[in-house]
Order: sequence, then structure tokens, then C-alpha cells
Amino acid sequence: MKPICPNCHSAHVIENMDNNIQGIAEDLFSPKLLAGIGASVCKYYKINPMIGMVAGGAIATVINLAQQKLIQPPLVKAALMPRYLCSTCQHSFSI
Ligand SMILES: [Zn+2]
Repeated sequence: MKPICPNCHSAHVIENMDNNIQGIAEDLFSPKLLAGIGASVCKYYKINPMIGMVAGGAIATVINLAQQKLIQPPLVKAALMPRYLCSTCQHSFSI
């Protein structure tokens, strides 16, 4: 069922893509990526790469925990109420 704008009753409504924020954040702060960065930093400074991988993983865990607190509430809200944007009058609404 296509949503209709409650403001101007236009059917030219597009779904808001706010949900993509989580995917981008996960790519930026993935534990795998941070562990890799930690390992290469240690290689550069001639420290045991295992220490870097553990440190990177620990940093990723901290970031993920912070993200869950920062990003989760609005995302849960967005998941419960899909956002729509009217392309006729730019009115943003949820069903
Ligand atoms: Zn509208």
C-alpha cells in the first residue's frame, strides 16, 4: 500500500532512507577493520601485531557500545514508525 501525504494528499511520497546510517556506521567502526588497523600500527612501530589486534578489538567494542546507546534509540523509533517524505510539499511524516 502506497502512503499518501497527510498534508496535501499527494501520492508522490518517498520513503526516508535514515535507516542507512546504521550500515555506514558499522562499516566505519567494524571490529575487523579496527583490529586490522591496530595490527598494522603495531607492525609499523615493531610491536607484536597481536597486541594491536586486541587493542583494536577493544576500541571497536567500546565504540559499538557507545553507538548502541547513541544510535539505537532513534533507529528503533524509525523502525517502528517508517518515515516518509512528500515530494510535492516536502512534508515529512510517519504512519
Ligand atoms: Zn504533501
